[in-house]
Amino acid sequence: MTSRRKFILQSALAASSFPFILKATAAHHPSTNFPLVISTWDAGVKANAKAWEFLNNNKPALDAVEQGVMVIESEVNCCVGLGGNPDRDGFVTLDASIMNHLGDCGSVAALEQIEHPISVARAVMEKSPHVMLVGQGAQQFALANGFILKPKELSAEAEKSYQYWLKKSEYRPIINVENNGYKNNPPNKLDNGQFNHDTIAMLALDNLQNLSGSCTTSGMGFKYRGRVGDSPIIGAGLFVDNEIGAAAATGHGEEIIRIVGSHLVVEFMRQGKSPEAACKAAIERAIKLRGDKLKDKQIAFIAVNKHGEAAGYALQKGFSYALQSPKHNNELIEAKFFWQ
Ligand code: ASP
Repeated sequence: MTSRRKFILQSALAASSFPFILKATAAHHPSTNFPLVISTWDAGVKANAKAWEFLNNNKPALDAVEQGVMVIESEVNCCVGLGGNPDRDGFVTLDASIMNHLGDCGSVAALEQIEHPISVARAVMEKSPHVMLVGQGAQQFALANGFILKPKELSAEAEKSYQYWLKKSEYRPIINVENNGYKNNPPNKLDNGQFNHDTIAMLALDNLQNLSGSCTTSGMGFKYRGRVGDSPIIGAGLFVDNEIGAAAATGHGEEIIRIVGSHLVVEFMRQGKSPEAACKAAIERAIKLRGDKLKDKQIAFIAVNKHGEAAGYALQKGFSYALQSPKHNNELIEAKFFWQ
């Protein structure tokens, strides 16, 4: 290595330990925009606010995406976490995944009675030799790692929804609600008139320009016992490639799994597409594969690239995402969609 190259490399390494220096350098690139956090649906605004406290204080994206979605996991009568709708047998089962800039990842599926599945997913990543733990084994691992067993009881809203659902016991997903069976009487309409959603996915780019992502859900309401959606499946519900970008999904999990959606979005960004174009291309892939079978379903993606360009895109109208960065003030943005 020439001494000049060595000097440049050493300077770069030194700069990476001082985020403010790196940020100042990066600011010369007109398209850079970080730190940044983007997350799905209306609840994303509240989750982003928490994540931003971390990003703005030069904390790693991994901490931001964990702490951000934890806020929503703890909300009673929300659709993510223990307040969510149960499966058809009356059990709330939770799926979550997390991934960092080094390709480390962890996930849990069908986890019961634990408030923060995202933190259990992180513990799987950091404290086990595995990527994914499910069901009783995931719960056993959580308890062994200091998580506390919560009561089985459903939240008041979920109990109401479940009793209503039991009358017909139909599994009929609804676009943008994912609360199956409530076309004329959606149970998760909040007092402010907004709808709850079953998933929050979050992507962050920190001041060291490192990416991480998280995804947590109670899954599709009234699913079969044991059903696992896209959210805990690395590549489907979430994918991070620190060279290129990150993506996450929400909506009808089975359709997202079929195209390994989040990985596909990142690969489209690798080919040079913008985050929005990459999300759109993944939606087009799903349509090519499934055509009319998607008519009554929603799928949507969010994505961010290494420079801090971020966007979402959906199959159907009604998907929104929250975005905070030096250029965005935690706005809730209505995503473009394919089927006009
Ligand atoms: N993708 C989630 C699942 O299929 C549901 C959602 O996004 O609301 O479990």
